Order: sequence, then C-alpha cells, then structure tokens
Amino acid sequence: MIVEPVRAFSDNYIWMILNDIRSHCAIVDPGDAQPVIQWLEREGVEPVAILITHHHGDHVGGVRNLVSRFPGLEVYGPASERIPAITQTLVEGDIVHLGELGLEFSVLDVPGHTAGHIAYLGQGALFCGDTLFAGGCGRVFDGTFQQLCASLKKIRDLPEETLVYCAHEYTLDNLGFAKWVEPDNPELLLRDDHDMALQEKGIPTVPSRLALEKATNPFLRFDVPAVIQRAEQQAGRSLAEACEVFTVLRQWKDSEYD
Ligand code: ZN
Ligand code: FE
Repeated sequence: MIVEPVRAFSDNYIWMILNDIRSHCAIVDPGDAQPVIQWLEREGVEPVAILITHHHGDHVGGVRNLVSRFPGLEVYGPASERIPAITQTLVEGDIVHLGELGLEFSVLDVPGHTAGHIAYLGQGALFCGDTLFAGGCGRVFDGTFQQLCASLKKIRDLPEETLVYCAHEYTLDNLGFAKWVEPDNPELLLRDDHDMALQEKGIPTVPSRLALEKATNPFLRFDVPAVIQRAEQQAGRSLAEACEVFTVLRQWKDSEYD
C-alpha cells in the first residue's frame, strides 16, 4: 500500500490509497473533486472507490463530480449519515474489500465529531477523518463529548505503531494548545520543534504514529496525572472520570484557544 496526500481548501488532506504498482487507488474524503482529478490525470491512476468518514461538506463535496466522471466508482460511507451517491453503507465491524488494490479495511464506529462518524483501519493505517487529529481532536458537532471520548479511547487501544491519517493539517495549532495543558512534557516540546521544521519546509506533519499521539496529544492523555491536575485547575473542581477530564479539555480549547 502507498498513501499520498492531495491538498484541498486551506488545510484538508484527501488521502489517496494506492496499490504498490500505482495502477489503482481509493480516495478518502474528497471534499473537492478538482485537485483529485488533476492528481489522477497526472499520475495515470485509475480510481476504484471513495471512502467517506462523515457527512461534512469538506469531506464529501467532491463525491458527485467524481462519480459522474468515473461512473464505476463505489462510494463507501457511514450507514447512519447522509452521504451523496453512496453505494455501500458501513457499520462497525464491516470489512471493505478493495479487490483491484488487494487491500482490506475494517470499519470502526468513532462517533463524537459527528454522530455517525466512522474510521477505516488496515495495513497498519487508520483513516480517521476529523476524530483524532495530529496533536488534537475534532470538535463536537452533532455527536456528544461522551461519544468522542469513547471513540478516542477505542483508537488509543490500537497498536502503537499504527499510522494515523487525519483529514486536516492542524498540527502546529493543536500542539500550541497541548503546551497549555502540558508545558513541561519533553516529548511534546520535541515534537513541536520537529513539526515546526516540517511545516517551514511545506512538508505534511501527517501521518503520525499512534505512539507519538499517546505521548503528546492531550486528548489521548485524560488519565495522566499532570493532565488531570491541569484540567481540575481549569474546571475549579475535582474530576472523577477520564471522560470528564476529556470534556473539560475540549471545552477549554473551544472557548479560550480556538
Ligand atoms: Zn468534519
Ligand atoms: Fe473536516
């Protein structure tokens, strides 16, 4: 498997999943068709499927144009959300077989950012849309804080070497908030320097390893004593449960940082 980004809008990544001989590909969350079509023509790759994580326009906006341009395209997406031109609805545990690519992905339910958000896991890679970001996580829109917390726990339990392909380049911004939470976390400070250097060269900071997220992303660290303490200080009360800590962090970022 080869994975390459196509950039869209100001900070979206549309992930192109290719077989090793670069003959066919699947397209994850094409919010815009134009940059995808340009990439396909330039690379001479034939698309076979679109994989959608959730219903937001910056993830599905290009689907109809792509399907009319490539009529054989299968469109996979969450069963409980309205996705344009969808042909295959998915729920947790389903397997997506991409025959032409020789690849398979299993489906995880990861609600919270939206109520029906799903993620695709296979070949050691996780395509998680706007659920987990490098250094951060999505906002709660039509899901709940409790759902997003449970989804992040589910992701945190995957193998540490998993590569996380999120859908936006928000990393440096996210790490700024992470430093509010854990100003003395040495791995976080190293990551911040490292990712800043990548950004200065115009290189994507995504994907990232789950192990690095667990060491530096406050939204996976809601049971680390220093993080609990910081959240309690922010809330002005003690927090008994991990998901309360998570919720305080997410609301703090929403209200004072973003
Ligand atoms: Zn979204
Ligand atoms: Fe998005």
